[in-house]
Amino acid sequence: MTFSELNLIQPLLDSLHKSGYKTPSPIQQKAIPLILNGEDVMAAAQTGTGKTAGFSVPILQKLSEGKKPSANSARCLILAPTRELAEQVHQSVQKYASDLSLKSQVVYGGVKINPQMLKLRKGTDVLVATPGRLLDLMEKNAVNFNDLEFLVLDEADRMLDMGFLPSIKRILAKLPKKRQTLLFSATFSESIKKLSKQFLNNPVLIET
Ligand code: AMP
Repeated sequence: MTFSELNLIQPLLDSLHKSGYKTPSPIQQKAIPLILNGEDVMAAAQTGTGKTAGFSVPILQKLSEGKKPSANSARCLILAPTRELAEQVHQSVQKYASDLSLKSQVVYGGVKINPQMLKLRKGTDVLVATPGRLLDLMEKNAVNFNDLEFLVLDEADRMLDMGFLPSIKRILAKLPKKRQTLLFSATFSESIKKLSKQFLNNPVLIET
């Protein structure tokens, strides 16, 4: 299978080619068509499987078809457990989006909040965030989810292990119900299944 067989648009095919990717990984072969098709997806995937491109490439394709975000809004929210992972996901998104006119921003704790508030003012297509800092920004009305279309819970099991469940619930309570939700986790524990029942809509299960 090739990336072009996955019905991806040329700017994305070009950036995947520039990234040196020759063929889609198993998770990408399964996830990309489902996500393009609008399904909620729950995928078992470790780091190193290509899961980041597996969710961000189809989301970027769909975002490129829609309208720009309004002030302080984000069209896609990606929640990640740590600053390092958030930074890594953001860099990947920027790389895949390099030929599209879409904006990505990243926010996490442990650094000053004011520059992050400024970055969010004009709205962003993709926002990668750790849960604690995102809540702080939400409380300051620096970000809203009026235009939210996509939610990704990346490394969901790690977020639960780190005690982020209450924060995640508080964030998700503020998101529009009509959205596409994707959950990636190394394992499908009982608590992950419970989370997916609560926040995903008839998810398609992917196990690689
Ligand atoms: P991830 O599992 O998303 O952290 O990706 C792991 C590594 O695989 C990253 O360095 C990606 O750049 C790389 N990668 C992702 N998809 C592919 C692909 N289809 N072919 C080759 N490398 C890839």
